[in-house]
Amino acid sequence: MKHYPVLQPTIGAREKKYVNECLDSGWISSGGKYVQKFERAFAHFKGIRYAATTFNGTVSLHLILVALGIGKGDEVIVPDFTYVATANAVLYVGAHPVFVDCDKTTYNINPDLIEKKINKKTRAIMVTHLYGNPCDMDKIMRIAKKYKLAVIEDAAEAHGAIYKGKMTGTFGVAGSYSFFGNKIMTTGEGGMVITKSKKIYDTIALLRNQGQNPRHRRYFHDRLAYNYRMTNLQAAVGLAQLEQLNTFLKQKRLIHAWYKEFLSPLVKKGLIVFQEETPKSKSSWWVTTIRILRGSSEKLAETLLKKGVETRPFFYPMHKLPHLKQKGYFPSSEKLAKEGLILPSSTLLSKKDIQYIGNIIVKAILKETK
Ligand SMILES: *Cc1c(COP(=O)(O)O)cnc(C)c1O
Repeated sequence: MKHYPVLQPTIGAREKKYVNECLDSGWISSGGKYVQKFERAFAHFKGIRYAATTFNGTVSLHLILVALGIGKGDEVIVPDFTYVATANAVLYVGAHPVFVDCDKTTYNINPDLIEKKINKKTRAIMVTHLYGNPCDMDKIMRIAKKYKLAVIEDAAEAHGAIYKGKMTGTFGVAGSYSFFGNKIMTTGEGGMVITKSKKIYDTIALLRNQGQNPRHRRYFHDRLAYNYRMTNLQAAVGLAQLEQLNTFLKQKRLIHAWYKEFLSPLVKKGLIVFQEETPKSKSSWWVTTIRILRGSSEKLAETLLKKGVETRPFFYPMHKLPHLKQKGYFPSSEKLAKEGLILPSSTLLSKKDIQYIGNIIVKAILKETK
């Protein structure tokens, strides 16, 4: 029986070639040419001035918050439906995440619910382009402007996603990316901050490198800082992956279209729905997901696993996690967490694979809802 993991990196000859160059040259830590090469190429791909590599997508969120001077006594608006790293980064700086429910169709933060949660302590709106689907940035930027708030984009899942012709991550003061092994492109572990602001870029470059300011004598550090540097080895993998990103994105789009084709009988009967893009946006479709409107998503996951098909449940609502507990009314994120299932979405999958998986899903759901 063939095994279908949810996600799998695509690593080939190019990655090996670049990594071997690092190994042969001895540049295996954060010095070496690949770090800068990767940063320049990523900034170019995004159509933005500055890109700073980091050790992972969680610390890049942390660095953005520190660079903005957000800390104790401050509040940051965060989607209730996101990966835990988004909310944790706010806790790292001693600020308070304030959760906002998601939209049931896009799964992203519901912009119409943001204003109610803004008060004098609010400093920033942190949004996540969930599963690669761009948020409604027009509405979010309008609110941010009205209340003079910074917008931070957690674009960890949205490399190559586009909103009104512009790349995600370029709308707010800074955007954060992850290159974990299951993301659209990977460096094993890794992250990147992109920004238009020289000031933010310079601050992040200092913060990730123990605050070693080139203006000072070596080992004179003028502030608390971190070692959040990416290695040359990671950057070598990253550059090789970036050079293939458009191919990966094309494949993600195809996979999404194939699922839509093979699962259409269920959509027509109102038994499942797919995540929806907002008008004028183009998701990267990091993963293709379905919501099971009738029947149990857990039961379907078990049936699929017996046939070698792995799935993942949706994220758990942030306000219900023990260290983030928060009172409030979050009906949509609670509903999504129950109904949602992430389907195998690796770029290595073929149309035949998706057909195999699709057939199992159609059969299982029709049987359960008969
Ligand atoms: C993966 C991810 C992160 C964290 O990235 P790491 O590189 O694993 O630290 C943050 N936010 C979201 C939405 C993610 O999917």
